[in-house]
Amino acid sequence: MNNIEEIKSRIDIVDLVSETVKLRRTGKNYIGFCPFHSNTRTPAFVVFPESGTWRCFGECNEGGDIFRFLMKKEGWDFSETLHYLAQKAGITLEPLTPKKKEENAYEEKLSGILEEALIFFRHHLTQTEKGQAALAYLTEKRKLTSKTIETFELGYAPDGWEDGLAYFRNKGYSEKELLDCGLITKRSEQEGFYDRFRNRVTFPIRDANQRLCGFGARALLSEDNPKYLNSPQTLLFDKSALLYGLDKARKPIRTADQAVIVEGYFDVIGLYQSGFQNAVSPMGTALTPVQMRLLKRYTRKIILALDPDSAGEKATLKGLEVARDAMDHSDDFIFDPRGLVRTEARLDADIRVCSLPEGKDPDEIALEDQEKWKEIIDQAKPIITHVIDALVNGKNLDDPKTKSEIASKVVPLIKDVPNAVERDAYRQQLARVLHIDEQSLFSISEVQYISRGRSNRRKIETEPGSLETLASSEKSKIYNLEKHFILLLLKKPELVYDVDRYLKKNDLVPLSNSDVESGDLQLVFVLIMKSLQQVDQDAAEFILQNLPDDLVWLETEWEQVIHTGTSQDRILEDLARTLLILRKIKVNEKIKSLYLLQQQTDENEAAADLELQKELLDAIKTRGLVEKAQSIPLISD
Ligand SMILES: [Zn+2]
Repeated sequence: MNNIEEIKSRIDIVDLVSETVKLRRTGKNYIGFCPFHSNTRTPAFVVFPESGTWRCFGECNEGGDIFRFLMKKEGWDFSETLHYLAQKAGITLEPLTPKKKEENAYEEKLSGILEEALIFFRHHLTQTEKGQAALAYLTEKRKLTSKTIETFELGYAPDGWEDGLAYFRNKGYSEKELLDCGLITKRSEQEGFYDRFRNRVTFPIRDANQRLCGFGARALLSEDNPKYLNSPQTLLFDKSALLYGLDKARKPIRTADQAVIVEGYFDVIGLYQSGFQNAVSPMGTALTPVQMRLLKRYTRKIILALDPDSAGEKATLKGLEVARDAMDHSDDFIFDPRGLVRTEARLDADIRVCSLPEGKDPDEIALEDQEKWKEIIDQAKPIITHVIDALVNGKNLDDPKTKSEIASKVVPLIKDVPNAVERDAYRQQLARVLHIDEQSLFSISEVQYISRGRSNRRKIETEPGSLETLASSEKSKIYNLEKHFILLLLKKPELVYDVDRYLKKNDLVPLSNSDVESGDLQLVFVLIMKSLQQVDQDAAEFILQNLPDDLVWLETEWEQVIHTGTSQDRILEDLARTLLILRKIKVNEKIKSLYLLQQQTDENEAAADLELQKELLDAIKTRGLVEKAQSIPLISD
C-alpha cells in the first residue's frame, strides 16, 4: 500500500465531509447540499462510503476521492492536501529519499537476478542430459506439452550443491545478493552457502504485474523432502501476498468473472493447458485476506477446488476448524467455513466449494476430460450447502444426537450470513435435511452454540484481515483501476488518441479528467495530456521531469506494469477494458444516486424532478453503451 492508499484506508470520507457538509444517511450512502455550488432546495451531493468517493449531480457535475474534495474545497494543491491528510491519518510521509530509491533499485536488481536464474533453470531442463528426467516427468507423468512448459517457464535445478552458486558468482553477483533473492542457503555447520533448489522442477512465481518474485520447486525423487519447496521470505517473495498463476489468469478471471482456487502449481498449469485459464493457487497455505483482496480486483466469484483427499471434505467432517498437512508440510491449512462465510460477507463475494472425485487432482481431471471439469465447476455449491452435505453424508439421521451435532455446527455458520433472506433459506434447507422443524432446530443448536461459542468467537474477531482492513479494499477498487489505467498510459501516452478513437467508435464521450478522479492520479492524467501538447521533449521524459515529488513511487510501478514485449494492441485493450470497468462503476453509482435524489425531491419541485429524470435517462443510456462496448472484443486473437 502506498501512502495515498494508506491514508484512504484510514480516513473515513463520511467523517471528513461531515466536518463541513451536513450529511443525511440514505441506505448505504449519504446525501447533502453540495458545498461547491449554491444550492439550498434539492440536495445533489452524494457520498459513497464504500468506494470512498463523492459526487455532485448538480451544477458541478464532478466527483472524486477525499483528496479531490479537499483540493477543491480548500484550494490546496496535491502536496498540501497530502500533508494535511497524512497528519490527520497519523502517517509519517517518507519522501522518496535516496535511501528508499536505493532500496527500490536493489529490489529491481534482485528480480533481475531471478530472471537470470529462470534462464539458467530452463537451460538445464531443455539442454542438458540431467534435465532429461525432469522433462520426461513433465511431459509423460504430468502430460504437459512443450508449449505449456514454455508458457509457464518451467525449469530444472541441477542436483549439484553449488552449480547455481558457481554460475552466478561467475556472473559477478555477490553471495549477499544471491541470499537476498532466495537462491542460496547458508550452511549451518560450516562456512559457506549452497543452492536452495537441487534436483527439482522449478516454477517461476510472478506477481500480478509480471514481476518475478521467487520460485516454487518440486522434488523429483520421492525421498527428497519436502516434496514442494518455495523461495524463502525475501524482499520480493511474500507468499501470503502472492497467488501462483495470477499473472496469466488475471484477464481470464476478469473475462469469466470467476476465479478457481486450486491447491498446487500443476493444477494451475494442467487446467490452463485444458483451456481453463482462470485458476490460481495460494501455494499450499490457506487463502489469506491479502490474496482475497488481490482476487477481488478481478472478480467476486470464487470457487474453491481443493483436493478431497487432504483438504476439504474430510477436514470439514472432522470439525469445522481442522488443520491439515499442507502441500509442503510447513504451514497449517485451516479450512474454516466460518471464516469463509465471514470473508464472503465482508468482501461481498460469492464463494463456492466444489466436490472433486476422491483421489483425483483438478489437473488430472481436466487433462483427461474437459467436460467433466466444467461440470464439476458448474456444480460448485455455496459454502454452507457444501458443509451441510459433507456433514450429513453417510450419517444416520434417525439418531437425535447426530442431528443435534450437525445442527450445532451449521447454525453458527448460518448466523454469520448477513443477508436475512439467504439466512432463512439455509435454515429451511438444514431443517429439511435433518427432518426437523425450524423452530426446534433453532433451540437445539442455540444451547450448544452459546456454551461452546464464546472463546471461538473471540478468536475469530482478532484474526488478521479484520473488518477494517477488508473494508478498505472496497475503497481501493476505483483507485486501483485508475492507477492501472494511469500506469499503462504512462508507458504509452500516445495511446490516448487510440483510446479516444475507440470511445468515439462506441458512441462514448472522449477521455476527460472525470475518468481519473483520485486526486493524485488525476494530477498525473493532466500531466500526461500536457505531455502530448508539447513538442520540446519526449512525452515520457516530460512526464518524468514534471512528476510531483510525492508521486515518484509511480516511477517504480510504472516500470513493472507491462511485461516486456507486450504488443501495443494488448496494451490498448487493457486500457480500454479498464476504462470501461471504471466508467461502468461510476455510471452505476450515478444511476443509484439519481434514484435516491429523486426520492428526496419535493413533489412540487416538478422542474428539478424533470431535470433529474433527464439525467437518469442519460445515465442509463450511457450504461447501455458501456455494456455494449464491453461485450465486443476489442481485438481478435
Ligand atoms: Zn455541486
